Amino acid sequence: MTASDMSRPAWDDDPVVSGWAGLPTLDGDCTADVCVVGLGGSGLAAVADLVDRGLDVVGIDVGRVAAGAAGRNGGFLLGGPATFLHTALATWGPCAVDLYRATLAEIDSLEGILGSDVIRRTGSIRLAGIPDTPTDPADAQDCADLEKCLRENGIAVERYSGELGHGIYLPDDAMMNPARRAIGMAAALAGRARLHENTPAVGIGAGSVTTPTGVIRCDLVLVAVDGRLEQVLPQLDGRVRTARLQMLATTPVSARRLPCPVYGRWGYDYAQQDASGRLYVGGGRDLFVEDEWTSSSEPTAGVQTYLDSLARLFAGEQVSVSARWAASVGFTGDGRPVCCYVDDGVIAFGGYNGTGNLVGPVTARAAVALGLDATDVPGYLSS
Ligand SMILES: Cc1cc2nc3c(=O)[nH]c(=O)nc-3n(C[C@H](O)[C@H](O)[C@H](O)COP(=O)(O)OP(=O)(O)OC[C@H]3O[C@@H](n4cnc5c(N)ncnc54)[C@H](O)[C@@H]3O)c2cc1C
Repeated sequence: MTASDMSRPAWDDDPVVSGWAGLPTLDGDCTADVCVVGLGGSGLAAVADLVDRGLDVVGIDVGRVAAGAAGRNGGFLLGGPATFLHTALATWGPCAVDLYRATLAEIDSLEGILGSDVIRRTGSIRLAGIPDTPTDPADAQDCADLEKCLRENGIAVERYSGELGHGIYLPDDAMMNPARRAIGMAAALAGRARLHENTPAVGIGAGSVTTPTGVIRCDLVLVAVDGRLEQVLPQLDGRVRTARLQMLATTPVSARRLPCPVYGRWGYDYAQQDASGRLYVGGGRDLFVEDEWTSSSEPTAGVQTYLDSLARLFAGEQVSVSARWAASVGFTGDGRPVCCYVDDGVIAFGGYNGTGNLVGPVTARAAVALGLDATDVPGYLSS
């Protein structure tokens, strides 16, 4: 295996992803009702919402569809905000439950578009701790507090106790190959919107987006970028801060240990196992927190060594690593994603605090409603 194979996300091995023919580069000037900058899960959700309204849409990405975190993440589809529901409820109020319900509806929507072989309704397990290590009593208490809060709000939850440890099982959650999700969305939308890869926005302003070869003139610009949003739009510096998250994948392991996506140690560490037995493992950011406040997306020895040991614990046996990668995400001060005007006719959204697979599309819908209907954004977003 070459070094470049090692640093490629293992999700790209999926035949639908590796066989993606790509989208044309945008050449020259054009006009549209709306221009969407960034074709990750959130930007594609915005495109879908816009074309459903009958609008003429141009979407551009600096690289391949989901070149960023949207194609390089853990593939967890977890209901709710990045902050556990009981904590979010205490700080944001009842809108935290609204967000939880909106994210669960987003799983249904994705499953409807992509099918149950891409969006797998397995549920998820939150562990107090990580497998084969002593349980942290505070983490266990937090699991119990979350369980109580979910029950009180009518959200399905069960106790989990098994070979992985102790915690809670959330039956409504799901898992996916994130690159497969994004490519599937782009393929479904390509005949309905003008989508372009390898087309960076080098200037964004009222009524126009500049690319290296021309200008896109439009009534509304939606900037759907999570990590590095404050670099694309310096107006958001101080509101969104970029961090790196890292992962690895193993070759198939013999034990079928993970029935669904599993996360533990306060949600910092996570793993899922695919049908071939490969594990996809991430986490450890909190243990290297200062190093990980960076816009670099190169894996590092410190985090990757931690992930090696984590992979062994999740697998319950020795593992062989086949790929290592990282990507950028955006964090915000109070845990609420940003969805706001940054200029006349320019709305930016991002800053999902490491959990944007579902919150991103929910925020995209809010951005479309803000731009087209002047609907105030919900309280779980920062306007
Ligand atoms: C290792 C890792 C694990 C994660 N695990 C999970 C998980 O299991 N579950 C979960 O919910 N979330 C997870 N996340 C977070 C999640 O991946 C992100 O929050 C989400 O993918 C954000 O999607 P997005 O479409 O909003 O933004 P992005 O994925 O950042 O997409 C933005 C797109 O904009 C493009 N772009 C940027 N600048 C420009 C420009 N100037 N011009 C044109 N295009 C541009 C980029 O190429 C990119 O394709 C994880 C993230 C990482 C890195």
